[in-house]
Amino acid sequence: MRRKTKLIHGGMPFDPHTGAVSVPIYQVSTYKQEDIGVHKGYEYSRTGNPTRHALEQSIAALEEGTRGFAFGSGMAAIHAVFMLLHAGDHIILTDDVYGGTYRIVTRVLNGLGIASTFVDTTDLAEIDQAVLPNTKAIFVETPTNPLLKVTDIAAVSSLAKSKGLLFIVDNTFSTPYWQTPLALGADIVLHSATKYIDGHSDVVAGLAVVGDEKLGEELHFIQNATGGVLGPQDAWLLMRGMKTLGLRMEAHEANARELVAYLLDHPAVQTIHYPGLAGHPQHELAKKQARGFGGIISFDVGSAEKASDMIRKLNYFTLAESLGAVESLISVPARMTHASIPQERRAQLGITDGLIRVSVGIEDSEDLLEDLEQSLK
Ligand SMILES: *Cc1c(COP(=O)(O)O)cnc(C)c1O
Repeated sequence: MRRKTKLIHGGMPFDPHTGAVSVPIYQVSTYKQEDIGVHKGYEYSRTGNPTRHALEQSIAALEEGTRGFAFGSGMAAIHAVFMLLHAGDHIILTDDVYGGTYRIVTRVLNGLGIASTFVDTTDLAEIDQAVLPNTKAIFVETPTNPLLKVTDIAAVSSLAKSKGLLFIVDNTFSTPYWQTPLALGADIVLHSATKYIDGHSDVVAGLAVVGDEKLGEELHFIQNATGGVLGPQDAWLLMRGMKTLGLRMEAHEANARELVAYLLDHPAVQTIHYPGLAGHPQHELAKKQARGFGGIISFDVGSAEKASDMIRKLNYFTLAESLGAVESLISVPARMTHASIPQERRAQLGITDGLIRVSVGIEDSEDLLEDLEQSLK
């Protein structure tokens, strides 16, 4: 099955009881048992719900895994995966990882005795050097937010395998439409499904997918034990959004390419980050490991003041956190999504005060370009 077909036919294709072509919303908490312990596969909706299950099967199919898990947010999914670790363990992470991931690792996991090291995972030697006797996992986000650095998934997988480490990839930015980390050797794939998977800025949700059955059992145990599950209404909305994921990702990328081409020559723009640019440091790698470059771009206009000035004049780019939806969203990471990262650390990473991130929507590109032009004047 090809990708756009899988988006439509990959999960529970229709309701087995009625033939309804849209998976019904099973708004239910418990299920009648025929006799004690005799049931139709569902006992209680924290443990399993048919609507959520259909979504979990869909994402497992899309990510080329065996089991999927849906959570109440991306952070709940990330938290559940981190619960595979124990006190005394150590984890290595990408240095410009999503702010919320940085926060849970440095302010929640550390209190539970789980240590961490943040490294530039685009450099394999840095990962290798960070491995300690108690290291248990490597967590990579690629491309990253907001600098769009690209990590070599297959190479990190080989390193992780050679050291017996669990390899986790946050695939939020690429989505399974463009990139399938499990096929490149990752053990677990994570999503903030709030972003492209949903695609309409109307749900907060998280997904995790594994290939290995035993790991699937462990993660299901944690999902059921900690309980951060996604409700059936939101699971249904995600499945509705996912049907058009392919069309949307193609449209996001086409618009992103046009904006990048325009901004590249603009005198007000100092630097621009997009993996699809031939000058991007990991452009060849991005081309090799993904089928597309995505719809997120970032660029530096030189100062916080210039960034504010520009953003105030825009009409079609909504100033908001989040990304991956049909409407273009714009943000200043240093003062918004990455404000929880200390100032000196942001400076080290290159998240400057004048850096602007755009999640390019699917509007007519002419309108987006005209809007950028008048605001940058
Ligand atoms: C938004 C985001 C998260 C967190 O997901 P929520 O759904 O907001 O909890 C994690 N990783 C990345 C890359 C994100 O963009």
